[in-house]
Amino acid sequence: MDFFSYKNGELYCEDVPAEKLAAEFGTPLYVYSKATLLRHYRQIAQAFAPVNPTICYSIKSCGNLHVCKLLAGEGCGFDVTSGGELFRALQAGGDPKKIIYAGVGKTDGEIRDAINTGIAAFNLESEEEIENVDRVAGQLGKTAIGAIRINPDVDPKTHIKTATGKKETKFGVDIERAERVFEQYRTLKHLRIGGVHIHIGSPVYEIQPYIDAVKKIVDLIDRLTARGHKIEWFDMGGGFGVNYERPDQAFAVTEHAKALLPLLMGKPYRIALEPGRYIAGNSAILLTRVLYRKQGGEKKFVIVDAGMNDLIRPTLYDSYHFVWPAKPDAANVPAERRKDLAPVNGEIVDVVGPICESGDFLAKARPLPQTTRGDLLGVFTAGAYGFSMSSNYNNRPRAAEVLVDGATARLIRRRETYEDLVAAERGL
Ligand SMILES: *Cc1c(COP(=O)(O)O)cnc(C)c1O
Repeated sequence: MDFFSYKNGELYCEDVPAEKLAAEFGTPLYVYSKATLLRHYRQIAQAFAPVNPTICYSIKSCGNLHVCKLLAGEGCGFDVTSGGELFRALQAGGDPKKIIYAGVGKTDGEIRDAINTGIAAFNLESEEEIENVDRVAGQLGKTAIGAIRINPDVDPKTHIKTATGKKETKFGVDIERAERVFEQYRTLKHLRIGGVHIHIGSPVYEIQPYIDAVKKIVDLIDRLTARGHKIEWFDMGGGFGVNYERPDQAFAVTEHAKALLPLLMGKPYRIALEPGRYIAGNSAILLTRVLYRKQGGEKKFVIVDAGMNDLIRPTLYDSYHFVWPAKPDAANVPAERRKDLAPVNGEIVDVVGPICESGDFLAKARPLPQTTRGDLLGVFTAGAYGFSMSSNYNNRPRAAEVLVDGATARLIRRRETYEDLVAAERGL
């Protein structure tokens, strides 16, 4: 559930009409709903409360400082995947003791900064990385703390580019090798390995892959404990799906918790979670205006002012985003956002951006109400991997971001300028 809805026939974010936001801040525009963001965070916290989890929001899903600060204010920690994300987490007021650093390719400089910051733990992905973190910590005269990321070899049944828990992906240490690796690095001088980490993929629309993975890891931790390893926490990663296609597409997190809590209750180790999409996904929409319409062969195109540089998910992951006019005619005010929603007197169109790529589209062969030049469209569920994956391709300044709280809207990232585009270039 989110707070983007049609009231009196037009699209609102909380209590602010989308048209008003577009008129004030321009398009393309990312519009965030504070109530939605906090609602989804609190759902996770409450659902898993019986195991008192440490929740580390995955910054890569949506990293605006204001978004992160709202979550930090709730007591949320951060899952970072680069030095830049660590910087961002700290800028947002993140507590270093609740920051977990993941990723297969951490550089020495990034490792050094993270140790000096005093982060909670590194999630370690390979033997060479383990040895390197130990070495870098030694140079600093400090002791780093880490968890080993295990690849549990389960199929999360998601897009090939976002499945991470199968053996053939680059992530983690194979589960067969796990005990050997824990044994091999039992007594490092400057790295204490006290946790086990998994992240199976994203978005995941089934519960069973989580159950399978958690069972495998709980058993692994039992075997490790029997061998005298002190396992202090189990980080279950993120990946919970959200409703892109229809209101009941994804399990509510309470359902995941119901299935997983019995496996986790009463364990002598802490539980950590790294949700990104579940918190951010439905907390933003992308507003874009129709620039032109055209016919190409048998196809109708609606050309809008947002492109794949603003939202790359359709192109990169073949993902579906519900797209709909902000002020449709009376017959086309949607009661629900559904992939199978049939417009009255509609047409089938490709919604495409201005970029010089055939892959630049937001929607393909999509039944939509009739639109004309100047109409405002909402692209929904754009909060996760939306702005955070945007770029300046085709030298397009990145979109502005606005945070709505009830009846007020605040600019939380200004639209980039042409000067921004060349600001880092030197020596002309
Ligand atoms: C991307 C990522 C997450 C977050 O995934 P979501 O689907 O956004 O919840 C969590 N952990 C790791 C290691 C990741 O790479």
